[in-house]
Amino acid sequence: PVQMTLTGVGKVYANDTTALQNVNLEIRRGEFYSFVGPSGCGKSTIFKLIAGLSEPTSGSIEMNGEELSKEDIGFVFQNATLLPWRPVLDNVALPLELKGVGKKERREKAQEAVDLVGLSGYEESLPRELSGGMQMRVSIARALTARPKLLLMDEPFGALDEMTRQNLHFELLRIWQKTEMTVLFITHNVFESVFLSTKVAIMSAGPGRITKVHRIPDYERNE
Ligand code: ADP
Ligand code: ADP
Repeated sequence: PVQMTLTGVGKVYANDTTALQNVNLEIRRGEFYSFVGPSGCGKSTIFKLIAGLSEPTSGSIEMNGEELSKEDIGFVFQNATLLPWRPVLDNVALPLELKGVGKKERREKAQEAVDLVGLSGYEESLPRELSGGMQMRVSIARALTARPKLLLMDEPFGALDEMTRQNLHFELLRIWQKTEMTVLFITHNVFESVFLSTKVAIMSAGPGRITKVHRIPDYERNE
């Protein structure tokens, strides 16, 4: 089923920069949707609009079926942005803590997320004791701990070396298939987008727009 529809979406920032023009998109529930394009073509702006952190200047974004609240959306950025003095489990539990979830339930859910990303045994490690790839896994676990319906990933693997990045591709696919959430993924890397996605939106700049959407065939995936 269709989860959200963007119709004629445009965004002009206060300084008169036209970041997006006439974006039309249909995102199905459970899809892995990538956005590929040069810097400045409006990829992050689309995320901000979808997350409700910014309003479109024209057009509309409709959620079909259910409105997504803040808790329904998880974010992962290139920089893992972990709290350095907190062990892994407490970093992962942070969104639940901010939501006011009690300690016991918080730890249980955080533990599930830690297990899901393959970090069992590292609960008490500090971020600096972990490799870059493991820190990214913590960041993914933190985004998953509140069980989001929608995961927004903005160039998550851009800073990692090739081996680590490819490992995480397999991990992410495994997690996505297990959780059935919708993933929206920003990248510069066409190979990465094709490997991971069910659909790839190719964007171009000046002003930002979607020039083509490719559907990636994969008979093992069901939409
Ligand atoms: P991308 O993520 O593809 O690099 P962005 O969505 O960040 O693109 O930016 C699209 C365009 O909008 C760029 O020209 C950028 O400079 C501009 N832009 C982004 N955020 C703002 C803002 N808050 N105010 C003004 N201009 C912005
Ligand atoms: P990934 O990024 O996929 O976790 P890495 O190449 O970073 O892979 O690490 C491979 C494996 O080596 C990890 O899964 C982990 O078991 C171990 N490892 C890496 N760095 C550390 C570390 N700082 N402390 C303990 N184990 C580590």
